[in-house]
Amino acid sequence: MSCVHCGFCLDACPTYRLTGDESDSPRGRLALMRGVHEEKLSLSGPDANAPGGVGYHLDRCLGCRSCETACPSGVPYGELLEHFRDDQEAHTQRKVGDSLLRKSLLMLLTSPQKLRFALSAGRITGGRIPAPAAAFVGLPSDTRLPIPQDLAAASASMPIFTPALGTKRGAVVLLTGCVMSVLYSPVHAATVFVLAQNGFDVHCPGEQGCCGALHGHQGALADAKVKAKGLIDQIDGLDVSAIILNSAGCGSFIKEFHKLLAHEDRWADRATAFVSKVRDISEFLDEVGPIPMTHPVAVRATYHDACHLRHGQRIADAPRRLLKAIPSLNLIECADPDQCCGSAGVYNYLEPEIAASVLSAKLDTLLATQAELIVTANPGCLAWIDQGIAKRAKQGKLSPGTKAPVILHPVQIYAKAYGFPS
Ligand code: SF4
Ligand code: SF4
Repeated sequence: MSCVHCGFCLDACPTYRLTGDESDSPRGRLALMRGVHEEKLSLSGPDANAPGGVGYHLDRCLGCRSCETACPSGVPYGELLEHFRDDQEAHTQRKVGDSLLRKSLLMLLTSPQKLRFALSAGRITGGRIPAPAAAFVGLPSDTRLPIPQDLAAASASMPIFTPALGTKRGAVVLLTGCVMSVLYSPVHAATVFVLAQNGFDVHCPGEQGCCGALHGHQGALADAKVKAKGLIDQIDGLDVSAIILNSAGCGSFIKEFHKLLAHEDRWADRATAFVSKVRDISEFLDEVGPIPMTHPVAVRATYHDACHLRHGQRIADAPRRLLKAIPSLNLIECADPDQCCGSAGVYNYLEPEIAASVLSAKLDTLLATQAELIVTANPGCLAWIDQGIAKRAKQGKLSPGTKAPVILHPVQIYAKAYGFPS
């Protein structure tokens, strides 16, 4: 109701930029959601998921929340989308392959054990999904699983407790999540190192599991609530002043646990107290004041704002401030750093054509900076941009004489600047 149809959000929207179709814009999608709410449009008819249908255009939304940042009326688009998708999954009839793909992705990505097994098995085909299976669920034939070169190193577990170095400033807990703990353990290791260097004891309880973010974003709010409660139960007893995250998508979702559980008597207050301690690692370091980073990192770098850090958590300056404080690091801004890369949770599997076009625009802007290093704070962005660059390099589409840039999480650069041996 607070949308005044001004259109300020249109140019911020990656799908509207791509198609120019009002139904692929935030304003158009809000009108479609409202049509369903007022029972003028249906989610369950045979045409709902066909081009022009409500489901079709809402499925094409990345959930990047760029429109929220642009909106002068404060329309809470992300929250509306979450509730809409929950309703949509309850009423819509999806094709068997589409439904199977959605369920399989949620099952695999939110269970570290299953994901580890799938990635180990995937090494047999070099990460390629067998063509008949890909065709059945509607994936392009060149879809690959993001298999790390060294899966054991990528999945290494963290010590349950790491003491502060030097003068102790406090104690924190690191949430390791599901995808991060399987694909990006070196990011966790860097986070623990940076926190300890800065005088914080770091607790890292084993097998923490999923926070429910992917469920929440995919229209499974009941499952998301179960995951949220499980995480609160596991962490609540620890005597810590902050709950640290290094995955932007999870951080954005966890910071809204109080809204998710607002109507549950036994949980609302606990969720509010929990949320008050949650910080992204860059936000936390910037807030407490980092000890000086004295090791030079001589590199030309550029920064991609992960949507759920910039638009979900409104954190843009802290990582830039920290990167600029590193001796010898030359930070070059790319064009449109806050535009989505197309990963968007599992979107790149569900809407591969749009995701590939959005990625292509993102790669153009990143590579135009001629940076040797791309920095971004979300596992989906790390994997998707990395795949895109590898593909361009393989196709000989990088500028002549240019080396493919390395892509890392910002905390890995802070760790280098503190002398982390990697
Ligand atoms: S969330 Fe992103 S893709 Fe969806 S309408 Fe808003 S800006 Fe567009
Ligand atoms: S910017 Fe906000 S108020 Fe304006 S059209 Fe977009 S959602 Fe509506």
